[in-house]
Order: sequence, then structure tokens, then C-alpha cells
Amino acid sequence: MTLKEQIIRRITSQGPMRLDEYMSTCLLHPTLGYYTTANPFGTKGDFITAPEISQMFGELIGLALAQCWLDQGAPDHFTLAELGPGRGTLMADILRATAKVPGFHTAGMITFVEAAPTLQDVQRSTIAPHRATWVAEVDDLPEQPLFLIANEFFDALPIRQFLRKGDQWCERQVGVQDGDLMFGLGPEQPQPMLETTHHSAAEGDLVEICAGIAPLTATLASRIATHGGAALIIDYGDWDRRGDTFQAVQSHAYVSPLATPGQADLTAHVDFSAIAQAAAPCLHTTLTPQGVFLERLGITARAQSLAATLAEDALQNHIAAHRRLTHPDEMGNLFKVMGLYPDGSAPPPGLERST
Ligand code: SAH
Repeated sequence: MTLKEQIIRRITSQGPMRLDEYMSTCLLHPTLGYYTTANPFGTKGDFITAPEISQMFGELIGLALAQCWLDQGAPDHFTLAELGPGRGTLMADILRATAKVPGFHTAGMITFVEAAPTLQDVQRSTIAPHRATWVAEVDDLPEQPLFLIANEFFDALPIRQFLRKGDQWCERQVGVQDGDLMFGLGPEQPQPMLETTHHSAAEGDLVEICAGIAPLTATLASRIATHGGAALIIDYGDWDRRGDTFQAVQSHAYVSPLATPGQADLTAHVDFSAIAQAAAPCLHTTLTPQGVFLERLGITARAQSLAATLAEDALQNHIAAHRRLTHPDEMGNLFKVMGLYPDGSAPPPGLERST
């Protein structure tokens, strides 16, 4: 039975499904989920992420994390962590770029937070001969300094959507009509949690919430505030979120999120204000466009030095990759970066303290 048939059967017997349950079923169903069965990354896959576009992305992230580690006195033992590493390309580039930072590799314990067992195997071979540890949750990260990167991880966390109706809310749900999946609205109900975060919503406004952000960020912030470290969170999104950003991508094209459960990537824009709110007792940086961040870290100088070794198609691809990562019309503005770091330490390179 396909995942779509299973979901239709589940809705027919138990009623409409919340969006967060639909999203996590489609992405992480143990045998039919998107991340658990597919290898969706790269030009042949469904979408391409920054580290798959160019090695420069991971190199600069690696040097930024190593600089944070040096700024905080180069602790002897720390966790070098990545949330949702995909194919492991970003960590491989981080490790190559930081190989000459004295003591960094000896002190760092590479740890991946990854839900999909098949991707763990891919990550293991990508970073070889380096060795990593895998944990299922951020709560399992060890109690020691934590230097962490999360690129396009938060956008995969399940969301819920609510429509404002008078002083109540209707939850958007997945139902079944004429044997196929369709969106519908649940009954009007009060939602006290939304009255604090979205009290200004007008009649007919659709708001999204991601319940996973707060506990996850709080755990990271607690590790960093207690033991030192830093987190770089990179994703598409903005300071706030209003409207429907739930989307599905398959073979580099947008498709309906209900069309092919388990075969398309499902994401939603990240509300960085929710990360900032949950970041206490850490400090967080201002939200910085990815293009600005990478320019500040020196991507243009790195691009020029790599260009000197390339010719013809490889050179054209390299120039296009630099533009794709940084240009405001491409990923440069849509993607944003926020850093978390301990009070009393410098913010991560390329980012500024939020006042
Ligand atoms: N960071 C990578 C890939 C991003 S895709 C890159 O930049 O290329 C999202 C990744 O997060 C995948 O590895 C996916 O399996 C993982 N993932 C998604 N939801 C997760 C969850 N709830 N817990 C752990 N890993 C998750």
C-alpha cells in the first residue's frame, strides 16, 4: 500500500489529520517517508541545498565555527554538531577547511542529529575517514561545549496552520473527498497560545506555528549558555511569518503538498522570531541575509582563488554557484542566518549582536 493510501485509510477511519502529523508522516514514516526512503539531494534529486551548490559554503561555515571555538579559549573537548546533515557534504567541507586549525579536530566530537537511518549511512561514507556519532534528538547532545550548524533543518519541522474567524480560530487539516486528499478547516475554537503570539491577526488571516522550534532551541541555548559554544542556524524564512508557506518540491518543481505523500519534500518558512524568543539564556544575533553573511566571511576572495584553478565549464559553474549562494535575487536574501552564543563572548564571525 502506498503512503497516500495509508493516509487516506487513516483519515477515513479516524477523521481529518492535523498538518503537523501529515508533515511528519510524509517526511519520516519509517518505511515510506521522504527522508527515510529517498536520496533527494543534488541536481538529480528534488532540490539542491547550499553545501551541494559549492564547497565554499561549508568551508566558510567551518572557519566561522573554528573562530568561535578559538574566541572561547579553544576548549579541549567539544561537540561539533550538525542538525539534519542530508548527505554530509557540509560537514565534509567543514572538516577539510578546518584541518589546519591546531587542535580543532582532536578536541571536536562530530555528532549528527539525523532521523533517517538511510541518510546516516550516506553521511558516514561522505565524511570518512572522520568518524561521527549519531543521536536522534538534540536532548541527547552531550553536556559539553557545543559548536553547531543547522542548514535547512528547521524548515522540515512540522507546522500547524490556523485561520482567524472572529475571536476564534479554525485549524487547517487534511481530509478526504471523492477518494483523494484535500485541505479543509476544523471547527471554530479558541486557541489561547495564539492569542499571545498572534493577537493582532485580522479576520481571514492564516498563521503558522511550529511547536518544535521552542523546545529544540531551548535545549541548544541551555548547552551553549552552560558550557560555551555557538550555533549557526541558516534557513529560508524571516523574522515573522504570516500566510501559507507550506510547500512541496519534487524534481526541482513546486507540486501540491497533498499530491504525492512521501515523494516530495515538504517544508515551511522558518519564523526566526520564535528561535530568538526561545534562545534565552543565550544571546542571539540579528537576522542576517545569507548573501551578506557569506560576503562578510570572505566568499568573494575564496571564489577568486578557486576560480584561478578552473577553466571553461567548471569556471562558469563556479561563477554561477557563487552568484546563486549570495545574490539577492537567488538564495542571498531568501535565506537568513541567526547565531546563538553565550553572554560574554563575541558573536560568531559575520553576525552582529542583537540589541
Ligand atoms: N543540511 C543538509 C540537508 C537538509 S534536508 C543540507 O544542507 O544539505 C533536512 C535534513 O534533516 C535531512 O537530513 C533529514 O533527514 C533531516 N531531518 C528532518 N527532520 C528531522 C527531525 N525531526 N529530526 C532529525 N533529522 C531530521
